[in-house]
Amino acid sequence: GVRKSSLGEGATMRVELLPALSDNYMYLLVDVESREAAVVDPVEPLKVVEAVKKHGVRLTTVLTTHHHWSISNGNEKLLRMMPGLRVYGGDDRVNALTKKVTHSHAFKLGTLNIKCLFTPCHTTGHVCYYVTKDNSSEPPAVFTEGDTLFVAGCGKFFEGTAEQMYKALIEILGRLPPETKRVYCGHEYTISNLKFARHVEPDNDVIKNKLAWAKARDDDDKPTVPSTLMDEFEYNPFLRLSEEGVQKFTGKTDPVEVLRALQKEKEKFKKPKE
Ligand SMILES: [Zn+2]
Repeated sequence: GVRKSSLGEGATMRVELLPALSDNYMYLLVDVESREAAVVDPVEPLKVVEAVKKHGVRLTTVLTTHHHWSISNGNEKLLRMMPGLRVYGGDDRVNALTKKVTHSHAFKLGTLNIKCLFTPCHTTGHVCYYVTKDNSSEPPAVFTEGDTLFVAGCGKFFEGTAEQMYKALIEILGRLPPETKRVYCGHEYTISNLKFARHVEPDNDVIKNKLAWAKARDDDDKPTVPSTLMDEFEYNPFLRLSEEGVQKFTGKTDPVEVLRALQKEKEKFKKPKE
């Protein structure tokens, strides 16, 4: 169904999830202390401008994960409506890019720290954004928007290899502090991802429970994001490369080969209608 926007509560950083197109998410990230805001992948600029007005925040920054049309195509229009925005991204193909970033590039949004995590594979210039606040008890957030880590899945390897996705998922995102409580992704693919996860590990009860939960959320037109990194390790097969069940399903043991085989199987997988 059509999902409503929702505002996550937080004392120091707030994230408003803004549904866009058919199954995309844009996110308005607000530094509560300074009221400065950034928007992640604003493909529908009008909705962003409305949210900015509604919350009375000062939008200064666009965080773009990758250049695909459904992700970065709104940048130019948003810039026309709100001139002077800084547009971050890791790829020259990003619409209206003003600031090209590389891995570990860090900057401030008001009092929040934003660190760029270069995670090429889905595209050669894919970037995730990791957000923290100094001296705060609030857990960090990571925007894996676009197509690296999804709830219960990962992005398609359009311009990259299993080796690159392994690095992105396991060595970069997987090693963020476990207290990274909020993982925000770019598409609502959770139910179909969990059906594949169940196909991989039919005996995993965490997957069954998460799928039942996701279906109930969908019936109520509620989003299934954010998730947490710790939870993802319990049901996302693409993070469970060393688990016996996942290795048995793929017939491989080397984690990169397990990942490669999983992705191939996922592409072939016909999700049951239920
Ligand atoms: Zn994409």
